[in-house]
Amino acid sequence: MRSWPAPVVPTLPGRGPRVHLHDTATGGLVPVGPQEGTATLYVCGITPYDATHLGHANTYVSFDLLGRAWRDAGLDVRYVQNVTDVDDPLLERATATGVDWRDLAESQIELFRGDMAALSVVPPQEYLGVVEVVDLVAAAVRDLLAAGAAYRVPGVDGGPDGDVYFPVGSDPAFGAVSGYDRPTMLELSAERGGDPQRPGKRDPLDPLLWRVERPGEPAWEAGELGRGRPGWHVECSAIALEHLGMPIDVQAGGSDLVFPHHEMGASHAHLVRPGQRPFARAYAHSGMVAFDGEKMSKSKGNLVLVSKLLAAGVEAGAIRLAIVAHHWRSEWEWTDEVLATARERWAAWTSAVSRSAGPAAGPVLDGVRARLADDLDAPGAVAAVDAWVAAANAGSGDDASAPGLVRDLVSALLGVELG
Ligand code: ZN
Repeated sequence: MRSWPAPVVPTLPGRGPRVHLHDTATGGLVPVGPQEGTATLYVCGITPYDATHLGHANTYVSFDLLGRAWRDAGLDVRYVQNVTDVDDPLLERATATGVDWRDLAESQIELFRGDMAALSVVPPQEYLGVVEVVDLVAAAVRDLLAAGAAYRVPGVDGGPDGDVYFPVGSDPAFGAVSGYDRPTMLELSAERGGDPQRPGKRDPLDPLLWRVERPGEPAWEAGELGRGRPGWHVECSAIALEHLGMPIDVQAGGSDLVFPHHEMGASHAHLVRPGQRPFARAYAHSGMVAFDGEKMSKSKGNLVLVSKLLAAGVEAGAIRLAIVAHHWRSEWEWTDEVLATARERWAAWTSAVSRSAGPAAGPVLDGVRARLADDLDAPGAVAAVDAWVAAANAGSGDDASAPGLVRDLVSALLGVELG
């Protein structure tokens, strides 16, 4: 499906260092991406049933920093993102509001595109709605059945027979992404879309691969699987295997995707492509953004919408600056003060890069590159720019090329467009 317009990314002199990132699976810092050639990135996309908000923006801006650092290090980046445009929460919301599920999805995807374009997020090369790739996902489920890594479950409460589940015990590496113990897995499975209570499963943790058709629900023909629709985790596995191959360099998403989503996605891939492992060389998870003391969610009514901030006249660059002033893995809270600080900083940076001269920009370029290569330390990079800006705005330095170079590096590496 259509993504969104790409921002202009200035080219900088020289080249950034190899990027290291905190990997959830090993719990440590690892080099990510090859020394040269093409780095591959899969970031799980939205389920478009709910207003796209600043918490979403935080995730995609965080991994946009990774893509920018990779490109600055001389790599090509192949980036794929899905949209879970058919799933239970979307269908439930559509029914509750009397809107066709396709129209609800499209309206929310369009809002998301607008946010991403405004925030200068470089779009993925492949932006794929699940409804576009049901055949691909169904083929992966059939492969799992053929490999003995899937089984059918009888219907319950008058429902049809034949829903297909994945036996988590079939992957010896199951649990290696999250490292969680079983009680934690059971709790999170129940919280995050799993169905541990479903009768007939071999293990309560086993996730759904294929849901056979129910009356009134969208369904697709899928050969021996029967008409139905795919489960969530296998969608991302199938898309990533098709469009990025295996292993991918970084599988990324918000920290609420560690389990079950990324754990299950990895196990599916290990069984779809037996003998190949791992699914991803690194797993990266961004922190959640809170507002009014709680994680943003529609049900709590505490959403901060990028589109509303923009409509109120807040500069897009200032919103992005508010995000990158926080470390991508940290849990942080959106407050009036966060926004006010970002707007002041954006104004000070704009003033400094608009001057006719300033201190030499080479050291700030090196500093920003070094901080970003070290686990995407954007707050450290922001501090390096702050120091140069303070000196420039105090009248120091006579390098006439420096303001332009700082403007370019802030744009290219942090994705922040100044005035
Ligand atoms: Zn995913």
